[in-house]
Parts: sequence; C-alpha cells; structure tokens
Amino acid sequence: MAVNDFPIENLPFGVMQRDGEAHIVTAFGDDVLDLHACARAGLIDEPALREPDLNALMAKGRPAARAVRERVQELLTRGTADEHLVPMKDARLLLPARVGDYTDFYASVHHATNVGSMFRPDNPLLPNYKWIPIGYHGRSSSIVVSGTDVRRPRGQTRDDANAAPLFGPSKRLDYELELGAFIGAGNALGEPIAIDRALDHVFGFCLLNDWSARDIQTWEYQPLGPFLAKNFATTISPWIVTLDALEPFRVSPEKRPDGDPQPLPYLQDSVAFDVTVEVWLRSAKMSEPVRISRGNARDLYWTVAQLVAHHTSNGCNLRPGDLLGSGTISGTAKDSRGCLLELTWRGTEPLALPDGETRKFLEDGDEVILRGYCEREGHARIGFGECRGVVRPAIS
Ligand code: CA
Repeated sequence: MAVNDFPIENLPFGVMQRDGEAHIVTAFGDDVLDLHACARAGLIDEPALREPDLNALMAKGRPAARAVRERVQELLTRGTADEHLVPMKDARLLLPARVGDYTDFYASVHHATNVGSMFRPDNPLLPNYKWIPIGYHGRSSSIVVSGTDVRRPRGQTRDDANAAPLFGPSKRLDYELELGAFIGAGNALGEPIAIDRALDHVFGFCLLNDWSARDIQTWEYQPLGPFLAKNFATTISPWIVTLDALEPFRVSPEKRPDGDPQPLPYLQDSVAFDVTVEVWLRSAKMSEPVRISRGNARDLYWTVAQLVAHHTSNGCNLRPGDLLGSGTISGTAKDSRGCLLELTWRGTEPLALPDGETRKFLEDGDEVILRGYCEREGHARIGFGECRGVVRPAIS
C-alpha cells in the first residue's frame, strides 16, 4: 500500500475488529486510530463512534462526520490520542457499514459506448443514455470487504446460438473498476433530494469492484438487465474517504460534446471529483502485481450528485449506509478502460502480462487490486488504500 494515502488531510472512516468487537477507526499514515476507544476515553464527544458500524454517524449527516474529523486532526496534531493508534498491518478491517440497498449505475459514456458496441454494433449507445443516468438495483448481501476471496460463479451460458445453454463455471469472469458513494443522511419516502443538496447526502467514496461474469451476463441481461452475472460478489475498500477530504479535488465535469443534450433542470450540476483510479493484476505465478489500467472519475458522464438526484427524483428513499456504484470508469485511452471486457475487446486482444502469461478474462488465482488517489498542486495527496480480491475456483 502506498505510504502516503493517509495524511492528516484524509482521515477516512472504517471499521476494524478489535477485542472481539467492531470499532470505528480512521487511517493515519501507517496506523489506524481507534475512534471507538477515543470516544470511550472521552477524547471525542460523539456517541455514534461507539456503534459497531458507521450507519449511525452517517445518519447524522455530514456536519457530524466533519466535527469528528476536525477533532481527530486536533488530537493527532497534539499527540493526545497516540495510545489509541494500532499499526495498520495488524488491523483486521471489516465492512464499514451495513449496506441496506445497493444501486449500480453506468455513468461512464466511454464504458457504455465500448460495451454497447460489442453487444449491439449497430446501436452502441441507447437513445436514453445522454438524458437519464442508467442504473439497476444490485444486491447488498454479497458485498464483501477488500481481502475477501471471490469464488468463480457458475451459471447458465450459451455460446452457440443453435444449441441449448450450458450450466457450469463462468469462463469469462471480469472485474469492473468503480467508485462507490455511501449515502449519509437519507431522505423521506416521497421527498426527492434536489440536485443542489445532493452532495449533503453523500458521506464519502470508496473503491468498488463489481465482479462480473460476462458469459452469464450476455445470456441473461435481456430484457431486465444484470442479475446473476453480477450479484455473486461486489468488493469494496475498507476506507470511506469523506467529501470533506475530497473538497480540494472538486473539478468541473468534462464538457459535454457539441450536439449532446444539456441535462434536464433537475439534473443540472457542475461538481465532479478528480480521482485517479487504477487496476493492478497479479496472477498466481507473479510475485508483484502489475498495473493494467488507469482512469479518472472526472471522465464520468454523470456526476455523483446527478446519480443521487435522479435516484430520488421519483420519491425513492435513500437511507444511511446505502451504496451507489458509479459504473465502470473508463476514459478514451485504451489503457483507461476499466474492465477486461473492454481492455481485451471481449477477449479478441489478449492482455500480455510481464511474466509471459496472457489474459482474456480472469483465471483462478488472479488477484485484482484497485487503487485510487487524488493529487493537486498545493494540496496533500490523499489515497483510498486498496480494494483487493483473489479469484478462487468454482464449486465443483
Ligand atoms: Ca458495474
């Protein structure tokens, strides 16, 4: 892990296993600061820090988390909480929140165009794409924290259009490089969140790997969208980087190309985040991972505020701890494509690994590592840590 992901300007929230309990923590340099212990010792006046997950703190909205963050900066600067630091290498990090509902979007127009052109060469981008943030309701029960092994799913596939489908282990297992946005304060059922308040409802971002079985997906996705191709595992990083930490890295979204429609009034927004995101891969034979792609969340067609406003526009309620995935983050450059389906163009251009192996899709034993960070002159670099998972063989 990069040593400079967690300067005092970052202070992401997470949860760690300690003394048989789940403690809310933050990351500082190579250490983890036990915020539960700090609260119990009277160093921080925030009862939500004594809960076993972040949902209660999330429910209080961004000001509560901001107050904790500012107090922690004070404690760390003065060195008055040092007895509650634990080396990160000894920390067993857990899922940071109970994820109630999980929604995955499709916010990268480059990803949507690439994938669309493989599945529908004549009609890559459907006519709704530039008007409406496309998403689907995912499954929260299979969200796992970084470091959890992922079992290759089995499912129904059909390669030969003239034959019956087969049932067996997926042969085209893929990752998807995404950012996750955790909802903080929710909204009441029936009361949409206005776009200019949408970021007040976002607690922070994590890295998210939406593992995807492309062969299962191809056969099942019409007419109702992803189902078993996606819901067998979603891995997230243990750290949630707050929007306060991301403040210096707000940027304007990419200008929409000439001829593209402007968003409808309820979706007009101007805040993107400059987060570089990378995929690293290590096969079972490799000693070190190799970076295979690098993109940026700034390139997304739809902003996080647009996703939140759209999701609630019909009155749908979001709750503290709900998770929104951005969708695969791809750019225009080939090495910015955020999944193997795109990088290898559906397996037709295999990826060469430094040890001589090649990949069309993931093999058993492969480890996928997502990383993310923000850099801007005049500001401390902050990072997201890592989101890791090793592919294990399917159940025989
Ligand atoms: Ca996805």
